[in-house]
Amino acid sequence: MKESRNVESFSLDHTKVRAPYVRLAGRKVGPKGDVVTKFDIRFCQPNMEYMPTGGIHTLEHLMAEYVRDELDGVIDLSPMGCRTGFYLTVFGEQDEESVAARLRNVLSKVASWPDAEAVPGVDPVMCGNAADHDLAAAKKWATAWVAGIDRKGWSCF
Ligand SMILES: [Zn+2]
Repeated sequence: MKESRNVESFSLDHTKVRAPYVRLAGRKVGPKGDVVTKFDIRFCQPNMEYMPTGGIHTLEHLMAEYVRDELDGVIDLSPMGCRTGFYLTVFGEQDEESVAARLRNVLSKVASWPDAEAVPGVDPVMCGNAADHDLAAAKKWATAWVAGIDRKGWSCF
């Protein structure tokens, strides 16, 4: 196994975590004292399951739109390349429990998204792969995330 000197998630033992969860994955202080925190928002049990591209893409659009209504200081929400979750980067000292509570609101909204209602940004002008979306899959993963957090809590263990 090749070690990494630079990437936080490469030092996480992905065989020990229990998805879904919210985990603080990084904290940086800028030269002017601003704090930025980064969270690992996991949906799938690593190396057991993963989201198909259409589903994670639609989930990204819906979460990106609504997480900013719930949480102040959102810098970025991006899917992980392994397609088992997202990284959420925010300004300020935010904690896992409150981020999980805000995300639960966002994902409850996604889970009950009306099938007939357009997903924000699904358009060749606003999206780089507007053909690759799957609302049913996004709703399924959102529902599973909320149910999992309600059952086991937000912790990764
Ligand atoms: Zn897109």
